[in-house]
Amino acid sequence: MSDKPICKSRRDAVKVMLGTAAAIPVINLVGFGTARADAPANAVTMDDPTAVALKYDPDATKSERVTAARPGLAPEEQNCSNCQFLLADQGEGDWKGCQLFPGKLINVNGWCASWTLKAG
Ligand code: SF4
Repeated sequence: MSDKPICKSRRDAVKVMLGTAAAIPVINLVGFGTARADAPANAVTMDDPTAVALKYDPDATKSERVTAARPGLAPEEQNCSNCQFLLADQGEGDWKGCQLFPGKLINVNGWCASWTLKAG
């Protein structure tokens, strides 16, 4: 019995592994890296304990706002920009302060379970 097929399949396996290893940094640069580059250093991350407890998501369209059904506005219209806890005088651009995340910045297009319609 020859071991050539085994050697060939080992070579193929190594090629696949090397190809996969090479692709991971490219995926990071093209995908997640781009999104993170936009976020300031003190942006609330989704693994922040308060963010987890409040189900905060910097992208409200991916949040649980529909199932939470907070009163005040249709769920599809709820986001940090129309929440009463937003601190518009903190941060820049899409990244602003929030009373529930002292010292950090949230994305105005985000949402969390404490969303409350901004008064007036
Ligand atoms: S409390 Fe309001 S502004 Fe703060 S993260 Fe939640 S929805 Fe956004």
